[in-house]
Amino acid sequence: MSHRPNRLYLSSDALVANWRALARLSGVAACGAAVKADGYGLGARAVVERLIGAGCRDLFVATWAEADGLADLADAAGVSLVVLHGLREADLPMLGSLPKVRPVLSTAAQVARWRDAAPGRPCDVMVDTGMNRLGIAPGEIVAGLLDGVDVDTLMSHLACADEPAHAMNEAQRARFAALAGRTAARRMSLANSAGIALGADYHFDLTRPGLALYGGVPAAGLTGAICPVATIAAEVLQCRVVRAGETVGYNATWRAAVDTPVAIVNLGYADGYRRALSDRGCAFAGDAPLPVIGRVSMDLLALDARAAAVREGDWVRFDDDLVHVAAASGVSQYELLTGLGQRYERHWS
Ligand SMILES: *Cc1c(COP(=O)(O)O)cnc(C)c1O
Repeated sequence: MSHRPNRLYLSSDALVANWRALARLSGVAACGAAVKADGYGLGARAVVERLIGAGCRDLFVATWAEADGLADLADAAGVSLVVLHGLREADLPMLGSLPKVRPVLSTAAQVARWRDAAPGRPCDVMVDTGMNRLGIAPGEIVAGLLDGVDVDTLMSHLACADEPAHAMNEAQRARFAALAGRTAARRMSLANSAGIALGADYHFDLTRPGLALYGGVPAAGLTGAICPVATIAAEVLQCRVVRAGETVGYNATWRAAVDTPVAIVNLGYADGYRRALSDRGCAFAGDAPLPVIGRVSMDLLALDARAAAVREGDWVRFDDDLVHVAAASGVSQYELLTGLGQRYERHWS
C-alpha cells in the first residue's frame, strides 16, 4: 500500500480502557458492545478482536450482513453475536451459514417466522417500552406471544438516556422491569452507553454500550471515564503566506486581517471532516493550535499556521475530543464517528 496523505490513529489501549470502565460502571451486569456500522466507523473486525481479548462476550450488529463479516471471530471465541434488526424474510437464507447468530425479534411476524424457520434455536427479543422504534408491545408479550420460544435476552432501548432528567427514562425502565419473570428469557438488557450512567436500576443483566467505547461522551455522568480512541492526522501539502486583505478557499469566507502563514492540508469532508467545521475546527502541531480557516473542501482544508512553523510534508493532528468537535460543528458524536471516510491509512497501536 502506498503511503496515504491522511491517517486515523486508533488506540487499542483506549478502546479496551473504555470497555473496562463501562463494565465497571455496569456493576454486576455483563457489559457487551455495539459494533454495528463497522464498529462506529473505526473498523468492526479490529474492534471486535480487541474487545474479545478484553473479555467482552456479547456483540451487537445491525444486520445479518454485518454478522456475516464477524462470525468467524465470534465463533472462535464462543461469543454471542446478535442482529439488532431482527429477521426479515430475505434473511432466512443466512440462518444456515450463521448457526450461532441470534436475531433480536421485534414483531409478532418475526416471532412466527423464527418458530417456523429455526424451532428451538435461541433468539433475543426487543420490547418497545415507549420509543416507538423497533419492538413488540409489552402487552403482547404478557399475553403469551413468546411461549415456547427460547429467548436468551429480552431487551428494550431508551429514547432519552442522554437526558438524565427526562421522565421517559423512568417510565421506560418501569415498563421494562415489569416484564421480569413474565417470560422465560434468561437475561434482560436495557442500557446503551448513556443508560449505563443512569445508575444500577438501569443495568439489569447486560449493558450494550456503543458510542462510549469509541470515545464518545453522551452523558455528563461518563465525563472523565472515557478517553478518545481515534485521532485524525493529515499531511501538509502546501504552505503559503496569505497577504492582508486576501481570502482563502471557496466563497472567500475567510479574509486575512494581517499577513498570515497558512497550511493547506490533505483532509476534507469526503473523509468525514465535516464542512460544518469550516472556520470552527482545530488542528495541532505539537501543542500549538492551528484553527481551520475558510470552507472545508471535499479533500482539502486550510489552517491558520501563525502558532507554529509548519512546512510542506509535516503532519498535523486534529482535535479528537468528540464533545468539542460535536459542539463546534453541530454534528452529533455518532455521525462524526460513523462518517469517517475510507481513505485513511489506519494505524492501530
Ligand atoms: C446502537 C444501539 C446501542 C448502542 O447505543 P450507544 O448510544 O451507541 O451506546 C444499544 N442498543 C441498541 C438497540 C442500539 O441500536
